[in-house]
Amino acid sequence: MTERADAIIIGAGIGGLTTAALLQERGFSTIVFEKNLFPGGSCSAFRRGGYTFDAGASVFYGFCEDDAKGTLNLHARIFRRLGQELRTIPDPVQIHYHMPNGFDVPVHHERSRFLECLYRRFPHEKEGIRQFYDELESVYDILSSLPAGSLEDPVHISAVGARHLVKSVSLGVKTLYSMGGTARRFIHDEELLHFIDLEAYSWAVQDARATPLVNAGICLADRHHGGINYPVGGSGVIPEALVRGIEKFGGQVRFGVTVEEVLIEEGRAVGVRLQGGEEVRAQVVVSNATVWDTFDRLVNDTRHRVPEGRFVKAPSWFQVYLGVDASVIPDGFNVHHILVEDWLRYDELGGTIYFSAPTVLDPSLAPEGKHTLHLFVTSEIWEWEKFDRQSPEYRERKEAYARSLITRTERILPGLSGAVELMVTATPQTHERYLGRLDGSYGPMLLPGQNVLLKPQNRTPVKNLFLSGDSTFPGQGVIAVTYSGVSCASYIARQLGKPLEYL
Ligand SMILES: Cc1cc2nc3c(=O)[nH]c(=O)nc-3n(C[C@H](O)[C@H](O)[C@H](O)COP(=O)(O)OP(=O)(O)OC[C@H]3O[C@@H](n4cnc5c(N)ncnc54)[C@H](O)[C@@H]3O)c2cc1C
Repeated sequence: MTERADAIIIGAGIGGLTTAALLQERGFSTIVFEKNLFPGGSCSAFRRGGYTFDAGASVFYGFCEDDAKGTLNLHARIFRRLGQELRTIPDPVQIHYHMPNGFDVPVHHERSRFLECLYRRFPHEKEGIRQFYDELESVYDILSSLPAGSLEDPVHISAVGARHLVKSVSLGVKTLYSMGGTARRFIHDEELLHFIDLEAYSWAVQDARATPLVNAGICLADRHHGGINYPVGGSGVIPEALVRGIEKFGGQVRFGVTVEEVLIEEGRAVGVRLQGGEEVRAQVVVSNATVWDTFDRLVNDTRHRVPEGRFVKAPSWFQVYLGVDASVIPDGFNVHHILVEDWLRYDELGGTIYFSAPTVLDPSLAPEGKHTLHLFVTSEIWEWEKFDRQSPEYRERKEAYARSLITRTERILPGLSGAVELMVTATPQTHERYLGRLDGSYGPMLLPGQNVLLKPQNRTPVKNLFLSGDSTFPGQGVIAVTYSGVSCASYIARQLGKPLEYL
């Protein structure tokens, strides 16, 4: 007998799990197939030598329990709906930036404290700084008052348009602007503009001119409202709670199962073929894989290949996970840091160091007297694929590169090299292997200057095949793919005749 479900979801990343959880809670039967033995993709955790490491993400928005604050607080609302409790710890500083010439800025949760740091260094730009960050606030004000739904759903769009006409029109106008273009209307100091570029680069891996204003209005404003909250137990507890939510309402998440093909009949997705040949059928199929992995690998129809140049392919990452002696972390050390030594190189491969110490907030992630550290820089697969993964050269190259990053990080953590007790490294090849992402890429980005609405939504050219995750609007980031999951579930639920209630 062929197995059937209302919806099949390919991949248990945050985008896929969110879609499945909301559909399942609404009464649709869902099956998630995940090739790994654990959920979460780029937002998973792993354990080694008594330490728990965040594999990727560790700066989290969307957990504020106060519905009056924050851009929608999607995690809090979703876990409430699923009846899952998840404890979080407020992080007083989103990111601590360390830049050339002693330019040092912690982004405090209190907006005024953060702005004060900028005013002190750039007194001549005080008015421009205020105007620029006020502009981000105005985007935030609009977004935080509109309910999350699918921009492809005419019923949702007309309901929002009717209730919030002025805000909707104003948001439409703001989609025409970039963050960098907006900054340059108010600010002229080159060093300050570098900082604005780095603010964009910190999550978008593109400079401010290539980053839509609307995305900046979420990331750079919400940090002062809903704030940044770290989940007790590490990043992996987020996908684990989503899996529990799916199972609580009768859905299935099957681990260690790779989907090899999306089955298409008469132009419609009708199910999937699993590795080993088994076929499972459904009314709709949702792919949480990237747009390239979906259309160039899983869909066996060359007419749907992703055209060359349709997106910018973001680089991948070289990552170093460290277990260190606690004495190397000074009192009052912030959790998340970004380190730039040279403005001419910050956006080159390896030019900016991202750096987190989650055990500052949650000591349970490391043995007593120890801390976990996570360092990463951009990297491309071509830098690594010339090595045989089993060869000593590959190991030596990884070790040497990791050591060079540790030495660079000693600028803010003197003595780090001597404090390392455990080191794990991951290259773009590791990223590709674990996540099934083309070249281990961070994902598809819009071409510089493109309107944010040109990012694909959830529907695809194949009927009943949907995308959820960072290939779709609004883009990369855990809260962004959660939005994508919500909009995907909303669209499908209406199509299948039982619309979701707003979160
Ligand atoms: C190093 C790093 C640091 C980051 N830091 C942050 C941060 O601090 N804050 C933040 O908000 N975001 C951060 N991000 C970004 C964020 O983690 C991602 O944008 C987001 O988690 C992507 O989620 P997703 O659902 O789109 O896909 P993914 O996480 O890629 O999940 C897709 C899942 O699908 C599975 N899959 C793929 N193909 C198949 C198949 N054929 N069959 C079965 N399963 C399949 C994969 O195994 C994977 O589990 C970071 C990312 C990285 C890499």
